[in-house]
Amino acid sequence: MSISQLARSIVESPTLRLNEEARLLREKGLPVIHLGGGEPKNKTPIAAILSSAVKLVNGDTKYVPTDGVPSLKKAIIRYTEENYERMVQPENVIVSSGAKQSVYNVLFSILNPQDEVIVLAPYWVSYPEMIKMVYGVPVVVTPEDGRYLPRMADIEQAVSPATRALIVNSPNNPSGLMYPEDLVAEIVRFCERKSIYLIMDDIYHKLVFDGKKTPSAYKYASKDIESLRLIVINGISKLYGMTGFRIGWAVANRKLVEVMNNVQAQTTSCASPISQAAAEGALTGLQSIVEGLRLMIENNRNVMMEELHSFTGVRIAKPDGTFYCFPDFRAYSSNSVELSNFLLKKALVVTVPGREFGMEGHLRLTYAGSVKDITEGVTRMKWALDPNAPNEIYIGDRKLVRDWL
Ligand code: PMP
Repeated sequence: MSISQLARSIVESPTLRLNEEARLLREKGLPVIHLGGGEPKNKTPIAAILSSAVKLVNGDTKYVPTDGVPSLKKAIIRYTEENYERMVQPENVIVSSGAKQSVYNVLFSILNPQDEVIVLAPYWVSYPEMIKMVYGVPVVVTPEDGRYLPRMADIEQAVSPATRALIVNSPNNPSGLMYPEDLVAEIVRFCERKSIYLIMDDIYHKLVFDGKKTPSAYKYASKDIESLRLIVINGISKLYGMTGFRIGWAVANRKLVEVMNNVQAQTTSCASPISQAAAEGALTGLQSIVEGLRLMIENNRNVMMEELHSFTGVRIAKPDGTFYCFPDFRAYSSNSVELSNFLLKKALVVTVPGREFGMEGHLRLTYAGSVKDITEGVTRMKWALDPNAPNEIYIGDRKLVRDWL
């Protein structure tokens, strides 16, 4: 069988692989705790279910416009106005099958082969792979040791004549940290000065804690939307916990949206109208659902922080948002893949190795699940690693004794 060099160079999605591993272990009856996933356990908002059900009941299930159903685009325009204080037109919006596809379509539409894209570590695992998939080159900027946000000077240094774009994800998967207002302002102005695209992956922008608000890049953009190289990406996956509906969108200047429309028309035609109806239902329905989800996850974040603070040697930056944290486990191992495998084997806890996010020695832990999963999961990790933790534990109904420390 012949496989293209490019396809061969794309690595497996580690989070999706871990989901599969966890599923197989659970199928064998093992009590696995999954601190690796990226979705909350909430039920889909009823407004979303009803509006997609209406489509199904009416058999209204045909192709729709490539850039999205007009009424959903209207809801997205309202969302942009309410959350970003920017008035945009339908021509500035394109709906895709998940924010993941929005990011991919943007990259496909703006990069020539060998163009560089600056990616800020720790980064979402898919960015470098997607950049490679369109023959671009990811250029990673890593923060100083012990920090999780880039220095402006390091970003400036990474720019070359081949730089086409910079991707920012704030609050950040995996660190949970939000880029502070002054850094966002500097990044926006810098990208404008250099005429490079700024892709803001804002998928977690409403999922922030402690009364904070995610700074909007638009606030610092000097030009009107049509002359801006600023692209803002959002979706319903994290906002409403509607991951399986696969709806995301991009807001950008109309020339770029037009090109993305052509790209999407030749690949997927359109995002599913059933899912688009669900997205519209969610966006126009009761928004207290978003607040309820946010509060639940903030409480989980607090529980996770308490658990990690009593973990000998583990250093942690308190997340401002998202449902992830990214503790530093170098006190135990500088090889995050080995550490993650060890924890799965000994403690039946799924974690994601920091290497996948461009920062070794860390593990990404999710607190989107139940409080019980968080406390029990971290207790098991302490048992497996921390010599100060009790050396006996019950995992499921089996009592285990640690004999390796
Ligand atoms: N961007 C980031 C930073 C994410 O973490 C995710 C989901 N894990 C996405 C984009 C993709 O979201 P969607 O489900 O809308 O494709």
